[in-house]
Amino acid sequence: MRLLKNTLFLLISTVFIINIFSCSKNNYYKRSEFLMGTIVEITCPDQQAIDIAFNEIRRVENLLSKYIPDSEVSKLNASGKLKVGPDLLYVLIKAKEFYLASNGAFDVTVGPLVDIWKKAIKNNVLPKSEDIKNAKQLVGFDKVLIDEKESTIAFLKEGIKVDLGAMGKGYAVDCAIKKVRDFGVKSCLISVAGDIFCLGDKNGEPWQVGIQHPRNKKELLDILNLKDQAVSTSGDYQQMFVVGDKRYSHMIDPHTGHPAESKVISATVLAQDCLTADALATTIFVLGKEKGLDLVNYYNNSRALIYTEDDIHVFDMF
Ligand code: AMP
Ligand code: MG
Repeated sequence: MRLLKNTLFLLISTVFIINIFSCSKNNYYKRSEFLMGTIVEITCPDQQAIDIAFNEIRRVENLLSKYIPDSEVSKLNASGKLKVGPDLLYVLIKAKEFYLASNGAFDVTVGPLVDIWKKAIKNNVLPKSEDIKNAKQLVGFDKVLIDEKESTIAFLKEGIKVDLGAMGKGYAVDCAIKKVRDFGVKSCLISVAGDIFCLGDKNGEPWQVGIQHPRNKKELLDILNLKDQAVSTSGDYQQMFVVGDKRYSHMIDPHTGHPAESKVISATVLAQDCLTADALATTIFVLGKEKGLDLVNYYNNSRALIYTEDDIHVFDMF
């Protein structure tokens, strides 16, 4: 565990991007916008590439957000059957892959349960068990049919809703990085809250990403040196709520219908792409440390840092 001093930090939810401005060969521009319900920050030597990346993140948000009424996801949730474009098709194919690999711990049909618990957070009152039971009937990716050839998605039960909150930000980062690469830019860092991709390096040095201490905002747990890699962090401090003296996470265990009680308070996953890192970081919260690490091992190129409640220790696979 290291606490860095005398360095310029920029707080982005769960992570700090550490900028060292000395001896730079290239001038870097840094811009932030509020998108996908959070702060998106892009650091790059090319201003046009930054515009391209923001436009791409906006495009993905307009497709995948359940909060935008005419997004593809909203249309699918309302109709239960839809011919979809390549983005949503790809994301739902990946969602199914993570659902199967995690034995249902990662499940984007968790939407009805997320809504119930969000309402509970707002009112600070626990949901009725009857409501949880009813919502659970609508959860299960086995009730989602994907026809890849026809590019159609069909729900097998009325009332099913998909919520891509656990992987949409990672996918948006991947799409934006692809656009920047295609534009010919070799160095760029894109972060959508805790979901980050570090393209290339920064003037010959790796990008440095600090992981925030889950209980002390000003402290860093670790600093990662990254090149051409994705990293995602999920923390219970982002959107948790407290009733009495109990903390409830915003990650839902689809098997119980309740917030996950895995004792994980922060999970960081490194992967080749940000969608994978994003989905796995959320899944670790539901599965807990041991099973979460098994899953991370299954995805060969991924590594994880997991902090638990009992003893804020580092289970470090780097
Ligand atoms: P993240 O911040 O990436 O860890 O994602 C958290 C979000 O994922 C929540 O706000 C929900 O929208 C969604 N979510 C919660 N539980 C699950 C789950 N078990 N499987 C998939 N998505 C979930
Ligand atoms: Mg996630």
